[in-house]
Amino acid sequence: MRISRVELHRFGLPLVSPFRSSAGTETVRHGFLVRVVGPDAEGWGECVAEGTPRYASEYSDGAHEVITRFLLPLLDPSDVRAADLAERFAPVPGHRMAKAAVEAAVLDAECRLAGVSLAERLGAVRTRVPAGVAVGLQPSLSELLDVVGEYVRQGYVRVKLKIEPGNDIEPVRAVREHFGDGLALQVDANQAYSLADADRLAALDPFGLQLIEQPLGEHDRRGHARLAQLITTPICLDETITSAVDAEECIAMGACRVVNVKPARVGGLLEAVRIRNVCVAAGVDLWCGGMLETGIGRAANVALAALDGFTLPGDLSASNRYFAQDLTEPFVLDEGHLQVPRGVGIGVEPLVDSLSKYGSGRTVVSFNAQ
Ligand SMILES: [Mg+2]
Repeated sequence: MRISRVELHRFGLPLVSPFRSSAGTETVRHGFLVRVVGPDAEGWGECVAEGTPRYASEYSDGAHEVITRFLLPLLDPSDVRAADLAERFAPVPGHRMAKAAVEAAVLDAECRLAGVSLAERLGAVRTRVPAGVAVGLQPSLSELLDVVGEYVRQGYVRVKLKIEPGNDIEPVRAVREHFGDGLALQVDANQAYSLADADRLAALDPFGLQLIEQPLGEHDRRGHARLAQLITTPICLDETITSAVDAEECIAMGACRVVNVKPARVGGLLEAVRIRNVCVAAGVDLWCGGMLETGIGRAANVALAALDGFTLPGDLSASNRYFAQDLTEPFVLDEGHLQVPRGVGIGVEPLVDSLSKYGSGRTVVSFNAQ
């Protein structure tokens, strides 16, 4: 595909409620969209890096600069292919969220040019995906029960609680006792524990959790493998897995029995599909995580989660879980599921009104005609 320019559209979208995890609190989703424009097609992607480098080393302004200064100059605008981007971008190590945003936009454009949906292109087999919800740390147990109760009432089929040391066993006990054993429940520690906390984490075993996500530091693979021998709750890795090679190694060494894949964390949707292939071959459970995406990033995640091999509900919530107004037509909950967009490409586009209301500047990188 030929491209003539790439636009980066910054936005600041207010969250309906502050989202608190062990990594910090967000009240506004700051990010940017990437739009690739060519004579024959255009496409949209979202950069999910947060405003500050706390959850991950990448952050929005940094990713913005990496894309404009270092990644886009590596492209040959007369022949851009999504499948080639990982190799094209290889001279720049890391910066996976930045790379994933460009890849997503190119994939969308390629699909629109070919007249297929992203879901078809990736090999999806489902028309809708089960919706899970992530619940941030709450100020009190009663507020936690209210928040979870509201999501259960809305129909979410799985609930994930953020936990941190000292704010773990009691919240899990309260939710389990209040909602019963039928609730699919899991927890996410966002690296907040150490191996010395094994007893505390083992105290979660009786509550029948689907999994515990990323209890230890992202580089501590051996620690996770050791912890897996000390607790019965299956360990799911999130931050640790940045590539298909990571997934293969962690599974082989017994560091995880479940993988949470986020396309942005692994450098893009195509690497996410390779991780899916690794998990299917190993018989390991897999689900699609989220990063408070707007409808642009959500559409791509929903298409990915529609592939065979995504065995557990993802952090794929309706738009109103996060935003009073999304940048796209909202994703809505339908009997606990989200419909996979059927249109060409990602199947959604930013609404002009939303982008002008919540947009905060645009950068255009033009390529000379060749
Ligand atoms: Mg996580």
